[in-house]
Amino acid sequence: MDNCLFCNIASGEIDSELVYSDEHLFAIKDINPQAPTHLLIIPKKHIRTIMDIEDSDKELLGSVYTLAKSLAQENDLEASGYRVVVNYGSGAGQSVFHIHFHLLGGRPMKWPPG
Ligand code: AMP
Ligand code: ZN
Repeated sequence: MDNCLFCNIASGEIDSELVYSDEHLFAIKDINPQAPTHLLIIPKKHIRTIMDIEDSDKELLGSVYTLAKSLAQENDLEASGYRVVVNYGSGAGQSVFHIHFHLLGGRPMKWPPG
């Protein structure tokens, strides 16, 4: 997808602070962090939103959570707690229409989220 920010970051056309990359997933530091640790875990496949997930994406999406777990461990978030969030649609704050998982931690988290 030529005009997709995260596809362009995945291909290296746009710079980012990369913290992880493999064949299927990458993770970057969020440019506008909402917590001391704020990473984005992003499938390289262009999936527009959580509503566009297909059955064949199950393994890919499962691997998002094993990556979230290891990034949380690397960032010492296990003891203090952390949150993994997907926003769907502009009503819930989705601004980039390529699926991504926010990994937030390093400060107390309120519930329910705003
Ligand atoms: P969302 O609002 O859930 O779609 O999340 C999109 C996230 O992408 C926001 O937290 C933005 O701060 C972040 N973001 C936007 N542009 C960039 C960029 N060039 N590099 C890293 N993060 C970005
Ligand atoms: Zn994309």
